[in-house]
Amino acid sequence: MKANVTFLKTTLILCSAMLAACGGESAPTGAVGEAMQAQQTYTWKLVTTWPKNFPGLGETPERFADLVEEMSNGRMSIRVYGAGEIVPALEVFDAVSAGTAEIGHSAAYYWRGKAPEAQFFGAVPFGLNAEEMESWVSYGGGQELWEEVYAPFNLVPMLGGNSGVQMGGWFNKEINSVEDFQGLTMRIPGLGGEVIQRIGGVPVNLAAGDIYTSLQTGVIDATEFVGPLNDLALGFYDVADYYYFPGWHEAGSLQEFLFNKEMFEALPQDLQVIMRTAASAVSATMADEFRFQNSKALTTLVEEYGVELRQFPDDLMAELYNVSQEVINELGQSSEIGQRILASYRAFEAQVKDYQDISEEAYIRIRAQQR
Ligand code: CA
Repeated sequence: MKANVTFLKTTLILCSAMLAACGGESAPTGAVGEAMQAQQTYTWKLVTTWPKNFPGLGETPERFADLVEEMSNGRMSIRVYGAGEIVPALEVFDAVSAGTAEIGHSAAYYWRGKAPEAQFFGAVPFGLNAEEMESWVSYGGGQELWEEVYAPFNLVPMLGGNSGVQMGGWFNKEINSVEDFQGLTMRIPGLGGEVIQRIGGVPVNLAAGDIYTSLQTGVIDATEFVGPLNDLALGFYDVADYYYFPGWHEAGSLQEFLFNKEMFEALPQDLQVIMRTAASAVSATMADEFRFQNSKALTTLVEEYGVELRQFPDDLMAELYNVSQEVINELGQSSEIGQRILASYRAFEAQVKDYQDISEEAYIRIRAQQR
């Protein structure tokens, strides 16, 4: 009762101080209300799974924040936090869901324990590449399904960039067959991790900042992360000998922006459009940056640090492909929405395949033959 009296007093004081907007007939409506809303400024927090200013992945949310501030003429100011500054790297989903922060930047496969179907919006082993993945999400029905998966968590997802085909990982022994994964503890999240488990390995999920020490101290035997740009920055060449390609498990890994749904939908319409537009703009450039920076970083890794580049054998890839199909189909069958997502994903794959064969893939094959 006492708390209620205090609340009432505080409300009265605030009302007289603001001289407006305390309900009833005194609340400004119509053009006046809209004008006030148009003047309102917001300061939001954006939490990420990446170390602060981490190349590629961590720079994208910074660019988003700058762009939103500029496009909104300062009405929306966003402060970006690195992993662990407000919440740990892998608690971004919960933090934005609860409104501890209004926005997050991460990757969907980290949430397999909360929403297993989210993994379809991260990376699917031997699945769509970056361009195809974004095409499915934007034009093939993926976005609507993604929103449906996240809505019960009070979240709205948006494209947050793409790292392109990743590397296969860092190992301290040569990998020649499925048997080489027996008992191997490897940092590899999502569906790729599930595949490694089925062939006898031990997948673990570690955030970027924890991988180096785990590899150095033998807590893990191997790791994948992203590609040369990030792997160079994290110093894996110090603690592993062989750098394998290709990243069969992550050919078109989507990064994501997460918005607290209630808070996002309460924003004035123009700020919502600005946020969507800025997310789309910075998302579209991530893969471009990775393509160029990965190529330079790979040269540094091989020429300056003597990293041994290795390709996974074709017959190993064939075995992992088969196990991957089992894992994907089981996930798709595990729930009603999973069935609809898998059906949409497969329909998109089937739809674009023939055209990809005679366009992108034909061109890349022919170009490679001339070199
Ligand atoms: Ca990865």
